[in-house]
Amino acid sequence: MIDEARALDAADPLATFRDRFVISDPDTIYLDGNSLGRMPKAAADVFDRLKSEWGDRLVRGWGEGWYGLPQRLGAKIAGLIGAELDEVIVCDSTSVNLYKLVVAGLEFNEGRRAVITDETNFPSDLYVLRGGLRQSWHWAISLPSGPDGFVLSDDFVKSLALQGDRSAMLALSHTAFKSGYVYPMESLTAEAHRFGALSLWDISHSVGAMPLELGKCGVDLAVGCTYKYLNGGPGSPAFLFVRRGLQEKLGNPIRGWFGRKDPFSFATEYEPADGLNRFLSGTPPILSMAAAEPGIDLVLEAGTEAVRAKSVLQTEYLVRLFDRYLEPLGFALNSPRDPALRGSHVSLSHPLALPIDLALIHEVNVVPDFRMPDNLRLGVAPLYTRFVDLHGGVMRIKRVVEEGIYEKYLGRASAVT
Ligand SMILES: *Cc1c(COP(=O)(O)O)cnc(C)c1O
Repeated sequence: MIDEARALDAADPLATFRDRFVISDPDTIYLDGNSLGRMPKAAADVFDRLKSEWGDRLVRGWGEGWYGLPQRLGAKIAGLIGAELDEVIVCDSTSVNLYKLVVAGLEFNEGRRAVITDETNFPSDLYVLRGGLRQSWHWAISLPSGPDGFVLSDDFVKSLALQGDRSAMLALSHTAFKSGYVYPMESLTAEAHRFGALSLWDISHSVGAMPLELGKCGVDLAVGCTYKYLNGGPGSPAFLFVRRGLQEKLGNPIRGWFGRKDPFSFATEYEPADGLNRFLSGTPPILSMAAAEPGIDLVLEAGTEAVRAKSVLQTEYLVRLFDRYLEPLGFALNSPRDPALRGSHVSLSHPLALPIDLALIHEVNVVPDFRMPDNLRLGVAPLYTRFVDLHGGVMRIKRVVEEGIYEKYLGRASAVT
C-alpha cells in the first residue's frame, strides 16, 4: 500500500503547503493536528514583528493595528465558515465564548428553559451547559449516544418535541471529538427552529478541515477554536459567531470595557457596543491573537473545498490501512465508515490503547493522541499530513503491537497528548 501512498502524494494539489510549516524532525509522524496544529513558518515572522510592535511602539500599538485585531481576524474566519464579515469575532477561549452565547441566547429566548445537547459533546461544553446554567434556572438535557458514538437526528427531534415550547436551544458539537462523526448542521438547525429553539454549534473540530456554511444553514450562534486545524498555536484565542439579525438583540453576560460602546470614554455606565463588538469582554490577548493569523491565512489560501477533498481521500486511505493491518491486531473502527459523516480524524479503539499510545510517542516517534477510555485518535491535517505519513504511522502502530513494545507502558497513567 506504500505505492498507493506515494502516488496519492504525487497527485496532491496541496502538497507544497507542507513546506510552509516548521518541521524540525522529519522522522516524527505527527497525527495530532486535530488537537494542536503545526506551527506555520510565517508565525516566526509575526513574533519578530511583535517584538518591535510591543518593544518599540508600546501603548501606541493599540492605535496601530491591535485594537481592530479581533474583528479583522474574525472577518478572515468568516470566509472559512460561510459567515458575513461582521458575524465573527476572535476572543477568549471556546469555553468562555460558549458560556457567553448560551447565557445570551437563553436570556433572549425568555421563558424557554431547556437546552438540548448530547453526551458526545466536548466535556468543557457539557460543563458549561450544565453547570453554567444552574444560576439561571435552566436545565440541560444531554442525550446518550448510540453504539456508533452519536445521536440520531430523530432523537433530537423527539427531545425538542417533548420539551415543546420549553425548548430554548439545541447546542451541539458539529464534529464529535471522539468518533469524528459530523452532525447534519442544516437539518438539525431547521428542526431546532421548528420548535422555537436557537441553534448553537461548536465547530472547533470542523473549522479549517472542511467548508462550513453557517449562513446558508441558518445557524444562530457558534463558537470554535483556532489552535486545531487553523494552526493558531497553543492557547490561541477562540472565536464566536452570532447571526447578524440577532446581534443587537443579545447581550454579553460578561460585561467588560472592550464590549462597551466607545470603551475609551471610560464611562461608568455600561452600554453595549454595536453589533458583535459587545461580545468582547476584557483586553484581547494580542500576542497570541496575532500569532494565530498565519495559520488562518494558510487555510484561506488553500481553500476549504480543497482541504476537505484531501481530508476525505486521506481518512479513506487510513480506514483501508486499518482494515488491512490493524483490525487483525484487535483494533476496532470508532469513526463512521462513510466519509460524508466523518470529520478529519479517525478514531480506533483497542483495549490497550493507552500503553500503545505512550509507546508510539516515546518509542517510535509517532504522535497520535489517546482519549478515554480506549480511543487512539489519528488526526489528518491536509495542509501538512502526507499519505506516506499515514502509511508510516500505521506500520509503526503495527510494530508496537506485534513486537509488544507497548508492554513497558502497561499500567501507566495518561498525561496530556
Ligand atoms: C478543542 C475544543 C474546545 C476547546 O475549548 P477551549 O475552551 O478553547 O479550551 C471546545 N470544544 C470543542 C468541541 C473542542 O474540540
